[in-house]
Amino acid sequence: MRILLLGGTSEARELAARLADAGHEVVSSLAGRVSTPVLPDGEVRVGGFGGPAGLASYLVEERVDAVVDATHPFAEHISANAYAAASETATRHLLLRRPGFPLREEYVVVPDIHAAAEVLPPGATVFLTIGRQQVAAFGHVDARFVIRAIDPPSVLPKHHVLLLDRGPFALEDEIALMQRHGIDTLVTKDSGGAATAAKLEAAAQLGIEVIVVARPPAPHGAEVVDSVEDVLHVLAG
Ligand code: NAP
Repeated sequence: MRILLLGGTSEARELAARLADAGHEVVSSLAGRVSTPVLPDGEVRVGGFGGPAGLASYLVEERVDAVVDATHPFAEHISANAYAAASETATRHLLLRRPGFPLREEYVVVPDIHAAAEVLPPGATVFLTIGRQQVAAFGHVDARFVIRAIDPPSVLPKHHVLLLDRGPFALEDEIALMQRHGIDTLVTKDSGGAATAAKLEAAAQLGIEVIVVARPPAPHGAEVVDSVEDVLHVLAG
């Protein structure tokens, strides 16, 4: 099959190699957000399609047999567009969403980034690990932020330390980082994935409050699997 693989995640990179090994012709697609992306094996295209209509045209022009959406669980626009474009063009569609983090009872789970900013205790020292794009939502919050992202956010809160880094992160390093900066609150998305899970264990060991931003829902009606293995299995069936 000729497969358009929407990527930007470690699972998508693994999938690109596995699908090619299984004999499929794969084009991986990246948004182009990260200045130095880790590239998957095989053919790669970079940049938006121009909304659902642009993506639908791409599927037809490139004679794509199946769209596998392996984007990040918080990349909700591209996932909505992919499902709409695949439906419109009657192209096979499959959504890979890795499982979320195991949620502990003591976590404060909020529906979106703005709600996370609202519940922060005044004067907190916050480890903000939500990526680069939505940091502006914390601009008005009276707190100290240690912000970790791959590339620098364009808007930063007044009191901040910026750490430019990319996972995977080890537990002992996360504990040392949180202790060094006197962190009392962790803010994370429910991204899931092994590469960034250690911060939650570190927070538990240090008694740090954890605020988790819940995932947006998957497109209604989409077929969803939660592992690379399942994608291969479904496409082979
Ligand atoms: P988004 O808000 O869902 O997408 C915004 C627009 O970016 C889309 O409408 C699309 O433009 C373009 N786009 C997004 N992903 C694309 C892809 N894989 N290939 C081609 N175009 C893409 O996405 P986002 O949250 O900015 O995430 C962008 C990328 O970063 C995704 O590929 C995602 O896997 C990766 N990522 C995101 C996060 C996160 O927390 N959001 C974390 C890690 C990695 P057009 O409408 O013009 O097609």
